[in-house]
Amino acid sequence: MSPPTRERPRASRDRRPSLREPTITVESALLTALIVACGALGLAVGSFLNVVIYRVPLKRSVVSPGSACPSCETPIAGRDNIPVVSWLLLKGRCRTCGAPISLRYPLVELATGALFVATAARFGLHWDLPAFLAFFSGLLALAIIDVELLILPKAIVYWTLLLVGAFLVLAAVMTPDWRALLIGAACAVGWWALFFLLNWIAPRALGFGDVRLALVLGLALGWLGIWYLLVGFIAANLIGLVVSIVLIATHRMKRSQQIPYGVFLAAGAGFAIFAGHLLVPSIQKL
Ligand SMILES: [Zn+2]
Repeated sequence: MSPPTRERPRASRDRRPSLREPTITVESALLTALIVACGALGLAVGSFLNVVIYRVPLKRSVVSPGSACPSCETPIAGRDNIPVVSWLLLKGRCRTCGAPISLRYPLVELATGALFVATAARFGLHWDLPAFLAFFSGLLALAIIDVELLILPKAIVYWTLLLVGAFLVLAAVMTPDWRALLIGAACAVGWWALFFLLNWIAPRALGFGDVRLALVLGLALGWLGIWYLLVGFIAANLIGLVVSIVLIATHRMKRSQQIPYGVFLAAGAGFAIFAGHLLVPSIQKL
């Protein structure tokens, strides 16, 4: 065995500025501020998503009347409507009647906040950030409703499509990157057609709600690049397969039982956006 070679003393020309030196640039300060602001926005949006998740399947307005306790119907005061904090202060009970308030409310708020933080960190100060914040908000609400009721309400799918579309048009105008928007629009139509066909072949495996959702997935993932759409689809099916096998093996699901496919489509889309560019470096947006 050869003796360990000693590292040669570094040549003086190698003394470039060390990466370890603390460098607080304007950019990193801005990015930190953006991430914190998005986290706070996410908590507030999560609070609204709770209303959407509860009311839309009941075909009730998400705007009026204001939030009220489902047990005693007392309107919820502003001080009791602060995301997460109010639930903790009230120890998960209604101030008036003491009825328990589901843990789901603060959890949805926290999940939305976390998603917004991750999305802000992923996209940074870019014009397409609002589109993806809207995208994940819609997907989160849809996924929770799909788990509970096995439906993807039309209203939420189309509102998400409208918001994502409007924000991507804004991003295309400002960047200006019309090519990405064009690919996104083409992917939306193509993905819808593919899902329409899959629904026609196997309507029990893939409902028409998933066909509508394909428009949103195609548009948002197509904006990033067609590879993101494919990675999202493959990831959705792998996640769905693994979860189904585990649930069937542990007797928590019957083989014939319908699965909330929308949840897996949402999870796959999240995987593609947050990990797709790491998985296949060549699919990074150019
Ligand atoms: Zn009450």
